[in-house]
Amino acid sequence: MTIHIYQAQLLHYLTEENLANRMQRATSDAADLTNTERPDLTVVDKNVTLLPVIAGVKVYPEYIADAALVVDDATGCVVDYGSKKAIMAEYASSSAQEGKAPVKIHDYQDKLIMPGFIDTHVHYPQIDMIAAFGEQLLDWLNNYTFVTEANFGDPKVAHDTSKFFLNQLLANGTTSALVFSTSHPESVEAFFTESERLNTRMITGNVLMDHNAPEHLCVPTEQGIRDTQNIIDKWHERGRQHVAITPRFAITSTPKQLQMTGELYRSYDSVYLQTHLAENLDEVAFVRELYPNHKGYLDVYHDLGLLGRRTTLAHGIYLETAEYEVLRDTGTQIAHCPTSNLFLGSGLFDLSKTLSYTGVSIATDVGAGTSLSMLTTLSEAYKVQQLQSNPLSAHQGLYQITLGNAQSLLLDDKIGNFMPNKEADFVVIDMGGTDLMERRMTQTKSLAEQLFVLMMLGDDRVIEETIIAGVSRYKKATAV
Ligand SMILES: [Zn+2]
Repeated sequence: MTIHIYQAQLLHYLTEENLANRMQRATSDAADLTNTERPDLTVVDKNVTLLPVIAGVKVYPEYIADAALVVDDATGCVVDYGSKKAIMAEYASSSAQEGKAPVKIHDYQDKLIMPGFIDTHVHYPQIDMIAAFGEQLLDWLNNYTFVTEANFGDPKVAHDTSKFFLNQLLANGTTSALVFSTSHPESVEAFFTESERLNTRMITGNVLMDHNAPEHLCVPTEQGIRDTQNIIDKWHERGRQHVAITPRFAITSTPKQLQMTGELYRSYDSVYLQTHLAENLDEVAFVRELYPNHKGYLDVYHDLGLLGRRTTLAHGIYLETAEYEVLRDTGTQIAHCPTSNLFLGSGLFDLSKTLSYTGVSIATDVGAGTSLSMLTTLSEAYKVQQLQSNPLSAHQGLYQITLGNAQSLLLDDKIGNFMPNKEADFVVIDMGGTDLMERRMTQTKSLAEQLFVLMMLGDDRVIEETIIAGVSRYKKATAV
């Protein structure tokens, strides 16, 4: 066991409850006369107003310019964080004392550390057909997606692609994700095997499709559900892996399969469910044709028992007021995927309106999305909101891709910020990671400005290192 101290600038987002715990800790330290260095003054900016992902749970940014983060590599968890002075006084000398763990100091004082980014909607097999020209949703699925996904019954393809994809996530600073595999159980097995090796916290499941898709990708109704059941038995909550029941969408599952999906979902209290909703107008029209006796697209899922707090529906662009109310009443979460919505020409998602009803996470949706970088994704989210005269602040965006996405996935007790005992998944960011950013940063006058430049210009080039549960899993290659 080694105690690692990362000296850096530190940014994360705290709920009021987190803040109360911090203050309590600081007060008890102040009462301890042997510890003259604590409490350190945390820099929580209560003037920044953020739209919360969980209704009523207020969130504030905390930025410490001269910070240190303490991580225990045996537990993989955060031990503490605070001003460098206070942390060094409390922890750096412990190696000199008999019986204490050795301490390793990592000097990143000119870098920014943030909690690892979380992607709540991404298709790992589609990494092989990202950037495919010229189609909107339904044709794009038929002409590109299904062709690529057909390869994933081959365990070697599934394993090689899982490995490549997860490494790409780490290179982009993404440490957790809610992921679509394919309809082949082999695709899930390969993904979890590789994720378990890296010890990343990941959620996936076999895609359920039993009609309206190429025959070789469709799995018979009951067989698909049995495959999911087997995957839950083997992988759900094994280490850091979780299973999501994954019907592709209302078009490619029969009513019978959606009904069985709902029954399976309701028989567990910790399994996730992910699917797509109202991404494209032709898709919405097709669902209405397939389900003429339902009130609309969302009503199909609602009626068949697919909605709930552990359900994440990707997109949700075209919704009626009554549908927003159903999302709110069932606690169902929406994943907003801006690069995908622009790439497929799907439409403009109204972030603040949707957040006023229910939790919204932000996601890449690769391969319809055009980048695995959550920073690039935020940059496009900003533009989508600008077209609706509603600028997205850097604090709102960076909150959403860290703690906000963790809250949406009900993982905020484990990941999302640097509260002590949370899992130490984090990224080391070089705010001047490109020549342009380095130059632009010299012209900034405030943290808000710097973070906005990071959000608009940052991508994988700014990610220096990615740490998973206290272990470094990605380091940017330095040029010779
Ligand atoms: Zn998708």
